[in-house]
Amino acid sequence: MELQTKALHAGYEKDSQGTMAVPIYMTTAYEFRDVEHAANLFALKELGNIYTRLNNPTTDVFEKRFAALEGGEAALATASGMSAIFFAIANAAEAGDNIVCAQQLYGGSLTLNTHTLKRFGIESRFFDVQNPASIEALIDDKTKVIFFESLTNPSIDVADIEAITAIANKHGILTVVDNTVATPVLCRPFEFGADITVHSASKYTTGQGLAIGGILVERKGLLEKLKGNPRYAHFNEPDASYHGLVYVDVPLPIFTLRARLSLLRDLGATSSPFNSWLFIQGLEHLSLRMKEHSNNALKLAEFLESHPKVKKVNYPGLKSNANYKNAQKYFDNGASSGLLSFEVDSLEEATKIVDATELYSLVVNIGDSKSIITHPASTTHQQLSEEELMACGVPSGLIRISCGLESSADLIADIKQALDK
Ligand SMILES: *Cc1c(COP(=O)(O)O)cnc(C)c1O
Repeated sequence: MELQTKALHAGYEKDSQGTMAVPIYMTTAYEFRDVEHAANLFALKELGNIYTRLNNPTTDVFEKRFAALEGGEAALATASGMSAIFFAIANAAEAGDNIVCAQQLYGGSLTLNTHTLKRFGIESRFFDVQNPASIEALIDDKTKVIFFESLTNPSIDVADIEAITAIANKHGILTVVDNTVATPVLCRPFEFGADITVHSASKYTTGQGLAIGGILVERKGLLEKLKGNPRYAHFNEPDASYHGLVYVDVPLPIFTLRARLSLLRDLGATSSPFNSWLFIQGLEHLSLRMKEHSNNALKLAEFLESHPKVKKVNYPGLKSNANYKNAQKYFDNGASSGLLSFEVDSLEEATKIVDATELYSLVVNIGDSKSIITHPASTTHQQLSEEELMACGVPSGLIRISCGLESSADLIADIKQALDK
């Protein structure tokens, strides 16, 4: 089945009412038939609903549908993109371990990796996503995850996914790819050897800036990589917190299973059923929107490239861009999503331009149907030092745009008047 068909049907079987739209199951808990039924559910002898912190029928449709789009085996929805990323890392690493991650990351992921995980005893080692060969020197037997974004936000690089996963596989290390900006419509990292993907559903999945959510997806056949792998003893040894369950012996997708049974149980960053329902609505037209976001961004990028005040345009769909080759290889038809950035001379110049736009909203978000403009150095990346800013590709004159679904002529006209002011 093609992706657009799955986006409308995967994961949902109509209930006895024949309900066309997926129902929103707003409930905290579920009645068990009897004590044995309850005991079987807790013992995983039977699968079913227990309590909405762990599972919910509406969220279940969202998870199954997203996994189908990504070409994965199973998914776990979370309360936010950040919790999906934290779960992916915490499900693989513990105190004393390290993870290797790209320098070019979303601001929240950078602070998570540099500061918060450190307080949990997990060290982060950074590599330049443009130089995958540098990963090898960072790996040791305590390395549990290689983490990077397929299309980086806000520096807009395209990762050479195959080069990175090849190194990870050589060492039996899990790769976690943040595929938020590319979405499964443009890029499916599992096809290039990735093990786990994470997304902020708050962006293109909802598509209209309606809700915060996240999702973690596990590829098919991940069990073989974890089974007997000394890096992941906690999947191979009895889990004392779950009456001695040995995950590799369970005939289910075990990465998401452990994240649900252990992390979602104890940390509770659950997707609200209402938000899951919003995300399901968004997925129905995600593929149509991604084409339009990409078209608009390409046209705007071409205009910006021709403007004398613009020093540099970062958009992987441009032939002049260093990421063009990777975009052609990893993204369907080379379509490169709605995110672009451009550089002007100074922080002052950037501030003037951002303030002069009328159609673009000054908002720290991406993936909305309405176009958004941001100045990362003063907002999302404000907590980073000048050195950290340069390392993750965010000079102070950088302006980021998330191209919405307005007419491209209007988007170009507004940025033109702001630049010419
Ligand atoms: C927004 C974003 C996140 C964080 O997601 P939230 O839903 O806001 O928690 C993570 N990664 C990328 C690439 C993002 O754009």
